[in-house]
Amino acid sequence: MFPTDPVSNLAALIRCPSVTPAEGGALAALEAMLAPVGFKVDRVVAKEPGTPDIENLYARTGGEGPHLMFAGHTDVVPVGDEAAWSRPPFSAAIAEGEMYGRGAVDMKGGIACFVAAVARHVEKHGAPKGSISFLITGDEEGPAINGTVKLLEWAAARGERWDACLVGEPTNPDCIGDMIKIGRRGSLSGRITVHGVQGHAAYPHLADNPVRSILQLAQALMDPPFDDGTENFQPSNLEVTTIDVGNTAVNVIPAKASAAFNIRFNDRWTAESLMAEIVARLDRAAADSALRPGRAPARYEIVWNERPSHVFLTRNNALIESLSGAVEAVTGRQPQLSTTGGTSDARFIKDYCPVVEFGLVGKTMHMVDERVALADLETLTGIYETFIARWFGHAAA
Ligand SMILES: [Zn+2]
Repeated sequence: MFPTDPVSNLAALIRCPSVTPAEGGALAALEAMLAPVGFKVDRVVAKEPGTPDIENLYARTGGEGPHLMFAGHTDVVPVGDEAAWSRPPFSAAIAEGEMYGRGAVDMKGGIACFVAAVARHVEKHGAPKGSISFLITGDEEGPAINGTVKLLEWAAARGERWDACLVGEPTNPDCIGDMIKIGRRGSLSGRITVHGVQGHAAYPHLADNPVRSILQLAQALMDPPFDDGTENFQPSNLEVTTIDVGNTAVNVIPAKASAAFNIRFNDRWTAESLMAEIVARLDRAAADSALRPGRAPARYEIVWNERPSHVFLTRNNALIESLSGAVEAVTGRQPQLSTTGGTSDARFIKDYCPVVEFGLVGKTMHMVDERVALADLETLTGIYETFIARWFGHAAA
């Protein structure tokens, strides 16, 4: 069957219980949709010691440029308390114009619509004047180690090159047409530990209380603000996420205290320049004697968590205008071009080609009774189909 109907595409995907790391039949279902449209499909298994093997999918139609990639994931988060769902989470049940199921909006729905859009394009115009590919991972909601990063490396090693990418994650807060994401803030985390001297709370001059220092260091991280925003980004924001002392006695000054923080940062900074700023603030605060009169600077160390996510902003006008023009043509609304929210796999794709994100309405993602309006599936398919025509038109011009 030619997969021009997003509703039946989505039902087939929802019925596959693909909770990370299980493939659950979802990639097989997608492969069955893409093959009749003319896609050559590869199923790529990624492995890493200590993590479950993950199945991913790469599919391409056409051998020439320009080359448009659609990226996403078929894995879904767990259903939580299944009894709390009003329809079974893998049933794709329809009630009052909405389809229920885990992954309905995040993001099997986006995939279902893009497949339908390509199928409609091919039905009307024949094969695209260029290439379209699907880069679909089964490891977005999990550790993301065996997913998009490895699939991009695998494809690039085989000579795949892309001119633009659309990620189909849910980007709209309330209604389709609200928001396109054209970049993302960076994310950086760390933990500070202050070493003091343990002692009796009644004899503080014989001890050195690290709680005094950790409060000063945490204060220095939060104040003053790092910036007041840039043209395309909101202000960078740091949150102290925990302060840990672990002391159970009221009459003992503890030996150490630690605090962790996460900062979401804009394009005023790189991860490196931000680390330098944070260390400078901490050094100043450690030497500040406000809470520790007459003491030598506090002894602290900092450990940076994991790899930071780098900030990025897409400036490809053909891509942004094709998408925002398609949204306006179909919905009559002008989408906001935004860089808000958390990180996404777009942060990996941006190293290969310009990337934007646009999908369904995110309201019910990861919730009990995740669901999508059937009308939204039709609207998004229309937007994607118009986008495909406009982008290839732009690229040919
Ligand atoms: Zn997602």
